[in-house]
Amino acid sequence: MTHIVVIGAGPVGTSLALALLRAGLDVTLCEQAESLPADPRAATLQPPTLEMLDALGSGAAIRAKGLKAPVFQFRDRASDSIIAEFDYGLLEGETPHPFALQCEQFKVADTNAEAIEALRPGTLRLGTAVTGFAQDGDGVDVTLSTGETLRADYLVGCDGGRSATRKGLGIAFEGFTYEERFLVLTTPHDFFARDFRVRNYVLDPSQWCALFKVPHDGPPGLWRIVFPAPAADSGTDALSDAYVSAQMLGLEPALGLADITHRNIYAVNQRVAAAFRKGRVFLAGDAAHVNNPLGGLGMNSGIHDAVNLADKIARAVADPGKAETLFGAYDAERRQIAKEYVQAQTIQNKKRLEARTPEQQAAARAELQGTCADPARHKAWVMNASLLTGLRQLEDQGRKAP
Ligand SMILES: Cc1cc2nc3c(=O)[nH]c(=O)nc-3n(C[C@H](O)[C@H](O)[C@H](O)COP(=O)(O)OP(=O)(O)OC[C@H]3O[C@@H](n4cnc5c(N)ncnc54)[C@H](O)[C@@H]3O)c2cc1C
Repeated sequence: MTHIVVIGAGPVGTSLALALLRAGLDVTLCEQAESLPADPRAATLQPPTLEMLDALGSGAAIRAKGLKAPVFQFRDRASDSIIAEFDYGLLEGETPHPFALQCEQFKVADTNAEAIEALRPGTLRLGTAVTGFAQDGDGVDVTLSTGETLRADYLVGCDGGRSATRKGLGIAFEGFTYEERFLVLTTPHDFFARDFRVRNYVLDPSQWCALFKVPHDGPPGLWRIVFPAPAADSGTDALSDAYVSAQMLGLEPALGLADITHRNIYAVNQRVAAAFRKGRVFLAGDAAHVNNPLGGLGMNSGIHDAVNLADKIARAVADPGKAETLFGAYDAERRQIAKEYVQAQTIQNKKRLEARTPEQQAAARAELQGTCADPARHKAWVMNASLLTGLRQLEDQGRKAP
């Protein structure tokens, strides 16, 4: 039976392993950590991703753990006014799930892992790092931290932004790193009282923020706020009380330092691998592309890679003569989406939030309000923001392909 080794049991690696198992293939999923990572990180699932998780059999359990977010709000920080609200409800008829779902990424990985173990116990190997690989014309030898060497037909690196698989293949990670970093604060303080929605973006030239609710341990849940933070070598300690207070000032008068339960800071990259495949080795998820979190697209596009690749591998196994064409299509299709949709939108989302001059700010507000007021443009906007437009474009291209 065709054997695929998947490196990394994040949301992408677990989705891929589950999809390959459902296709009747033999899978080994290696995760270096002793238990599945439980850090919160990404938290938004877009409608097409929910459909894909349904097809994998984990969708209903994941939806039961999440918080529906049908509306996406934009506000102006200086005037504390609502600029526009985009309604995923307009996707009714386009998808069975016309809403985004807030659900921490580790819950997605955990739920997939439970489904994997129910289907084929022993597939997931925790505490097992892939330490090297060598491919030839027939397969890939994969060495593990346990001292074993596995022989696989295909190897997929779902091993995150610092992917050793990508580096081992010598594939460039093209793009840039923002000079500023992102500060993420967590608080139980409830923002619904001030008419915030589950997902919110607040425009401001220096103190913009993204504010969204996550289910955490269940009601009432927690709120996370993402602010810009100065570069590591700026001399400002972005985790200090002084910096955190300054960012919160004016956003919510009732919010004090004592309400902040967690502070985190991280560097933000916009990068896409120069290729998503070399021979029998593939990249998917953050190993292949990384982006800023504004718009909630990173984890989603990674899961879309996984589902696309599992389908291509299953079809190549059924019809080996088509393998080269199918694998070339994986690389072309997913790189196209990463560049034209995910990179383009996330870069634009950041620019809109931080519009600097009064003219740029007025233009950003006018664009949002004009789009929202026009039903056709409003629907096109949410189709794009939810990644449905990109996926439909790929389906059209697939139908026209020879
Ligand atoms: C600090 C941080 C905060 C983030 N916050 C947000 C956010 O707020 N919103 C958002 O949309 N996105 C956010 N992201 C991005 C989001 O987390 C990713 O898009 C998503 O995790 C991608 O999933 P993945 O499965 O590709 O990779 P990961 O979730 O990174 O999983 C990779 C897995 O591979 C394992 N691994 C690595 N090397 C090996 C090896 N050699 N052998 C075996 N296992 C290995 C790792 O242990 C890990 O479990 C954040 C990312 C980071 C780093």
